[in-house]
Amino acid sequence: MKPIFHVNPVNGPFEDPGVFVRIMRERRALLFDMGHIGRLELGNLLKITDIFVTHTHMDHFVGFDTVLRGVLRRDMPLRIFGPENIIQCVEGKLKGYTWNLIKDYPLKIEVFGVNGSYISHCSFYAENGFERLDNPKLDFNGVLTAEPLFKVKGLMLSHQIPVMAYSLEEDFHININKAVLDEMSLPVGPWLSDFKKAIREQKSEKTFIINGKTFTIDELMNIVTITKGQKISYVMDVSPTAGNIERIIPFVKGSDVLFCEAYFLERDMDRAIERHHLTAAIAGRIAREAVVENLHIMHFSPKYRHCAEELYNEAMREFRGD
Ligand SMILES: [Zn+2]
Ligand SMILES: [Zn+2]
Repeated sequence: MKPIFHVNPVNGPFEDPGVFVRIMRERRALLFDMGHIGRLELGNLLKITDIFVTHTHMDHFVGFDTVLRGVLRRDMPLRIFGPENIIQCVEGKLKGYTWNLIKDYPLKIEVFGVNGSYISHCSFYAENGFERLDNPKLDFNGVLTAEPLFKVKGLMLSHQIPVMAYSLEEDFHININKAVLDEMSLPVGPWLSDFKKAIREQKSEKTFIINGKTFTIDELMNIVTITKGQKISYVMDVSPTAGNIERIIPFVKGSDVLFCEAYFLERDMDRAIERHHLTAAIAGRIAREAVVENLHIMHFSPKYRHCAEELYNEAMREFRGD
């Protein structure tokens, strides 16, 4: 199975957390958190259409300027999601510059701030010098964005302040069976992408002309097998409370990869409580109980710089029991 999401942490585990997700076959990418993101090449940065910010502590948000600098002349809009105060934070960042020469730039920034059962939505357009425009509130039922290929869900947790956890889910994965394709003497080609798109969009009436012959979607269905889609979860900066943990487990259930903070070791639990962070053991326990395929821990306290392996060992002991 060819994965549609290519997932990479932006930095090392002691640096600002963040995960860059390329969506294969679409010239676009998603970003989870934007702390220091200087390592992202401009070409990758320009592909980012949606950014999901857990909260606006500096180590998760300082990269806003880098993103803005990169996409300023772009015509593809930029969407930013986060807890409700993300709107004030983006507005504050934009107010930090002078914008008299950008009226003909096409960039549109849409910001979505989640608060309980609703989402506040504000727009900042270059043509208006990035003045804030308030849009009607949207209902929030857990899903932040739903597209034919995937959806992103958000879960509000606590880090003394509101913090969002995210999951990125491909609805289902369409695998092309090359052997059946050969048997039916059908060529590989761009029509396969259109075919997959039609399945996802449930356009059952659509037909395909291949080698001069017309096929309905139904007639082509035996070239595909449908399997469970990819699921990626991202959980950073969460107070180590039972309430948070109980809510994270069902949310990240069955993830192919869970990116989870492991800021402290269990022996520093008092610090974890004081600083509102998870421990490596808690990350491991969440991954085990949520039956996650792979656990990727990150966002370590600098105090463990000389013993990072202890964090991995502690998380893995809880996760896999070894
Ligand atoms: Zn942090
Ligand atoms: Zn934080």
